[in-house]
Amino acid sequence: FQVPVAYNEPIKSYAPGTPEREAVLKQYKAYYNGNVDIPLYIGSKEIRTGNTRPLSPPHDHKHKVGQYHLAEKKHVTEAIETALNARAAWAALTWEQRAAIFLKAAELVSGPYRAKINAATMIAQSKTIHQAEIDAACEFIDFLRFNVEYMSQIYQEQPESAEGIWNRVEYRPLEGFVYAITPFNFTAIAGNLPASAAMMGNVVVWKPSDSQIFSAKVLVDVFKEAGLPDGVINVVYGDPVMITEKVLTHPDFSGLHFTGSTDVFRNLWTQIGNNIHNYKTYPRIVGETGGKDFILAHPTAKPRQVATAIVRGAFEFQGQKCSAASRVYLPKSTAEEILSEVKKDMKSFNPPGSPDDMNNFITAVIHEGAFNKLASYIDKAKKDKEASVFAGGGYDKSKGYFIEPTVILTTDPHYVTMETELFGPVVTVYVYEDKEWENVLELVDTTSPYALTGAVMATDRYAIEQATKALENSAGNFYINDKPTGAVVGQQPFGGARASGTNDKAGSAQNLLRWVSPRLIKETF
Ligand code: GLU
Repeated sequence: FQVPVAYNEPIKSYAPGTPEREAVLKQYKAYYNGNVDIPLYIGSKEIRTGNTRPLSPPHDHKHKVGQYHLAEKKHVTEAIETALNARAAWAALTWEQRAAIFLKAAELVSGPYRAKINAATMIAQSKTIHQAEIDAACEFIDFLRFNVEYMSQIYQEQPESAEGIWNRVEYRPLEGFVYAITPFNFTAIAGNLPASAAMMGNVVVWKPSDSQIFSAKVLVDVFKEAGLPDGVINVVYGDPVMITEKVLTHPDFSGLHFTGSTDVFRNLWTQIGNNIHNYKTYPRIVGETGGKDFILAHPTAKPRQVATAIVRGAFEFQGQKCSAASRVYLPKSTAEEILSEVKKDMKSFNPPGSPDDMNNFITAVIHEGAFNKLASYIDKAKKDKEASVFAGGGYDKSKGYFIEPTVILTTDPHYVTMETELFGPVVTVYVYEDKEWENVLELVDTTSPYALTGAVMATDRYAIEQATKALENSAGNFYINDKPTGAVVGQQPFGGARASGTNDKAGSAQNLLRWVSPRLIKETF
């Protein structure tokens, strides 16, 4: 059985005069000056509890574009029960029928919903149009198309049979429901976590991040229009402690699909452990969490190439990527040249600003908490004797939560910003003596508890091989002569180990296999 061959959605340019640019700006304005009211989605119902929180753009935090309604305990229970009631009919569909719904969703985002999903992502998650296009439109579409292809491979994978014996495997959905907790920083990830579990026949309770509820609403509209039956994906928001407690104490809880912080994931795991005697099955736990991602340049690396990797890896998407380059190791012999190129690049783009100015390179960080944290580390670096601010260092929250792209230089490879995940446009650079290369390999490996992404830059083949071997456990996605960000679905399945997650790569058959419980049937004739 063949499914359409998956391909990466072409990224639109949004150049002046293009129809996509006009469409997204029009949609942006309409949302900005309107009043979006976002209910809970439980089965066929849209529930407005009346207990609301305002929805405000991080780049213009005094402006309100609408509100969303908060769940109470009873709504969480209702979401779980609704999911469980929808399970039998959903699981009874053939995988081809389910595939068709998600392929249709991909086409809807590619066409009529593109401006909506991008505008919602620009407004509530503060992304430039190029960031939104890469994430909310293209990467989300790619997840859907490639997962359908992987899913078709899984269902067709069958064991050998023997004379008089027929062995076959049924890939059944998990017995219960899946809980998806999703992050603000990627609309694509937020959509993919519930969608990939649902694609494999599961029913889902989805709690998006408070900062991503607007684009989550557009995704719900897409799924509905694509024909996803009511009750397969149910969406609740509100007090995360209350929601999670309700979900994780339910005996039918059978899987967690998570992207977010390491601390939250560890807490969830502990809660699941504490409830393990109450569950009907052992829940599947899949999580992608933090990162402290590195760029390591060898003395033979090309300075210009390293500078580009630093600027793009650290600052694109406001640095709000789990994969963002945040600690950099430069050899003394080329550090000055690399850093002056970095500074030149940083002067060439606009300071952080609003996403509807299409020329801006970055916009605001997600909320005041993120802003305050970043500003305090920048201030600390300005004061500490082992650190200094080499470029950037400005911040201003009077209108939006704007943090200037910032390079901190440190003489201490264990300086706090070399070790702590900051999740913003701030990168720390440590310069090493060229002859210390082998010690630096060990330093890179042992400095951080995380192992999400990392990059080695060198032209010397031996150095590349040496780093690839020495850092084999330091990153789930390892880049040679490239920035450590921008994994493309279908090309670089994404995920990390150690404190960065369970490494069940997003956009892979491996990930989808976590959402099925195979039954082997042996029939003897
Ligand atoms: N997949 C993205 C990348 O490769 C990062 C995803 C994330 O931040 O969680 O840059």
